[in-house]
Amino acid sequence: MSLFQNTLKQIWKAAQLMKLNKDVEEVLSHPQREISVAFPVRMDDGCLKIFKGFRIQHNDSRGPYKGGIRFHQDVDKEEVQALATWMTLKCAVVNIPLGGGKGGVIVNPKELSEGELERLSRSYFRAIAPVIGPDIDVPAPDVNTNPKIMGWFADEYAKWAGKDVRGIVTGKAIDDGGSKGRGSATAQGGVYILQEMAKRNNWNPAETKVVIQGFGNAGGTAAKLLAADGYELVGISDSQGGIVCNHGIDPAGLMQCKVEKKTVKNCGVHVSELHGVEGSSCKMVENEELLLEECDILVLAALENQITKENAHKIKAKVIIELANGPITPDADEILAERGIIVVPDILANAGGVTVSYFEMLQNADDEYWEEDDVNEKLHKIMIKALADVEGNAKKYDCTLREAAFVTAIERLKDKMHL
Ligand code: GLU
Repeated sequence: MSLFQNTLKQIWKAAQLMKLNKDVEEVLSHPQREISVAFPVRMDDGCLKIFKGFRIQHNDSRGPYKGGIRFHQDVDKEEVQALATWMTLKCAVVNIPLGGGKGGVIVNPKELSEGELERLSRSYFRAIAPVIGPDIDVPAPDVNTNPKIMGWFADEYAKWAGKDVRGIVTGKAIDDGGSKGRGSATAQGGVYILQEMAKRNNWNPAETKVVIQGFGNAGGTAAKLLAADGYELVGISDSQGGIVCNHGIDPAGLMQCKVEKKTVKNCGVHVSELHGVEGSSCKMVENEELLLEECDILVLAALENQITKENAHKIKAKVIIELANGPITPDADEILAERGIIVVPDILANAGGVTVSYFEMLQNADDEYWEEDDVNEKLHKIMIKALADVEGNAKKYDCTLREAAFVTAIERLKDKMHL
């Protein structure tokens, strides 16, 4: 089953619950516009290589299409369709006036030199430029893309359009017109939700064990924020593998080690030495094993399809936070729900990123910039309200938080579409 079919199944489920008009379900099941591009890049050895990519604009009934661009060797059209659709729903869950879109390029950026990466980024952006615009479709970072790449996009667009258009992308560096707090926003939004749930359920962070899959922007920042709140980080991984430690993990030390050793998998000794505690040790684990570790909270901050019907029975966490998009398949969702495991779904848990992207668009439009505390205060308000709306629907429809998040989003979309 493709990722997009998973998304359609999620929409269908919500549609059944809320007895949705079939027309609305049909519209939401089809991206409005899909662009496939093939574009040339001059490689360092002088040869010309053609790369392929997509920009898929799912729905703009609530505002301009909005969503990131990922660079990954496994990108395909169905994946981008799914991600674009989730963006529409995500923006509606947090009730910001934006639609959903997503882009992807089939490339392993780790195999490119810096110069090749810049030429690829610029060439891709030229290819999609005709359908992008601050009131049409506003890209942002996603897997393997970052503020520097957003800067190249904005610069290339300025050349193409013959004018500087600040709001053409979000997730820019602060000096390029980015928003304070955007870099940490995806993780921060998820952490605000977790803090709220912890407060209500009287979870004591010091007695709460956390495992994080993924140590990129979202996973790395979540590790830092959760450690600062006093949670015990017992396991962390990246795309190569991970470590599980009996005396917790210091994220700052691990980050330093990762820069040197390239992967957290090789940082076990470093992390246990940092503790300076007798008997402190770490073991190396594969990514699949990490998910099955004993813990209270599992943060999924890597890629899609990590928990499937094969491993859902064996998950030990009590709460799962989806900072990645689509890390749990619909089959696995059913198993987790039966087992009473709470899943805070992606379109709620990771919506902090796009929310601060929206703040960046507002700041660019007014050419007035906010302090980080103001950004975080506004983000906090939006996340807590979204959680309350979703929980309200979970009660009303007696359903999971994911189903309730879909219902919340679709209700808002339906109203706009009818208008
Ligand atoms: N790529 C992020 C996401 O999946 C952020 C999108 C944005 O800021 O537009 O939500």
